[in-house]
Amino acid sequence: MTADAPIADTTPVERATRDRLARRPWPATPIRSDIEVSFEFFPPATPTGERKLAACASALAPLRPSFVSVTYGAGGSTQDRTQRAIEQLAATEAVPVAGHLTCVGATRETVGGVIDTYLNTGVRHIVALRGDPPEGQTDGTVDGGYRSAAELVAGIRRHVEGTEAADLEISVGAYPEVHPRAVSAKADLDNLKAKIDAGATRAITQFFFDPAVFLRFLDAARSAGITAPIVPGIMPVNSYEGIKRFAARCGASVPSWLDDLFGGLDDAPEVRQMVAATVAAEQCRRLAEHGVRQFHFYTLNKPELTAATCRILGVLPTPDAPGAESPEADTAGPSATAPQRTAS
Ligand SMILES: Cc1cc2nc3c(=O)[nH]c(=O)nc-3n(C[C@H](O)[C@H](O)[C@H](O)COP(=O)(O)OP(=O)(O)OC[C@H]3O[C@@H](n4cnc5c(N)ncnc54)[C@H](O)[C@@H]3O)c2cc1C
Repeated sequence: MTADAPIADTTPVERATRDRLARRPWPATPIRSDIEVSFEFFPPATPTGERKLAACASALAPLRPSFVSVTYGAGGSTQDRTQRAIEQLAATEAVPVAGHLTCVGATRETVGGVIDTYLNTGVRHIVALRGDPPEGQTDGTVDGGYRSAAELVAGIRRHVEGTEAADLEISVGAYPEVHPRAVSAKADLDNLKAKIDAGATRAITQFFFDPAVFLRFLDAARSAGITAPIVPGIMPVNSYEGIKRFAARCGASVPSWLDDLFGGLDDAPEVRQMVAATVAAEQCRRLAEHGVRQFHFYTLNKPELTAATCRILGVLPTPDAPGAESPEADTAGPSATAPQRTAS
């Protein structure tokens, strides 16, 4: 039978199956060609980690991210490593590099020094965060320091005012499921608005799994008058146990259906990877169906799941980009280590 031949009469069961498949939304959803992605890395602590980061960055660079970012340990605990990773990325990848910056435990002078170091490296994008207080403390700010990310954003804007870096991009964190220390969802949203009003140009969300959670948050933010881009933070599940521990700390919910999907896969890393890629791809495609076109991936310095998800989203390696012929190759393998979402 040729492709053009009429379909022969089928049984009622076959027809019902065909109709049901035709109603499934995904085959009819074209992959969009206007998706933008960005990637977060953490600063490695060892030479082996540095090689993994370099391999991860060069595997993902052909996907032409709008930027890559490097996390920063609250209180400056990874300041040198963050700076080294930024320099390495800036020297090897033709991709804009953003530096994260936290303000807990630091004076304004210290923060100003980090901003200058970033600017001298060519960084023109800062991800400005409060940072978590040290273990056992509830606040963590110091005399003469910024008390919140909103104050930090305003401080960064003042710092670059009138310089050639005045158009610096500033991204801030946002919490679709409400920051665990926030007084209320409304207060958390007001705080996000304060950060944008202070000069931030984009918000990137904490990770979440249920697309509806993000879409509801986006609606609430728009209703609150926040017009800046709000980019979903996507966390591919490299280690399910690690994700659960991390989610409990940062107030992200883990739907019970993920337990069903990942249960019993501890000793089956390849199956786990395939399930994880499917989960991330489904999440992103649902968001894309609702008009989301920017995605920020928490790579944990492992490129495979991010590369697979981008591919399914329609973000393919650009042929003339360095390393384009093997974007998913030469990478650190999957591991069951706990995620180091932030660099603390
Ligand atoms: C995209 C993204 C990137 C991140 N990168 C890093 C990183 O590189 N390094 C790192 O250390 N962390 C990082 N974090 C984590 C972040 O530092 C924590 O979530 C931190 O607790 C809040 O930072 P913020 O900038 O959102 O704070 P803010 O915007 O100042 O506060 C967010 C909300 O939490 C409340 N809140 C926060 N802290 C307190 C407190 N002590 N007491 C009372 N209320 C409080 C505020 O009232 C507000 O509702 C990141 C988070 C996101 C979403």
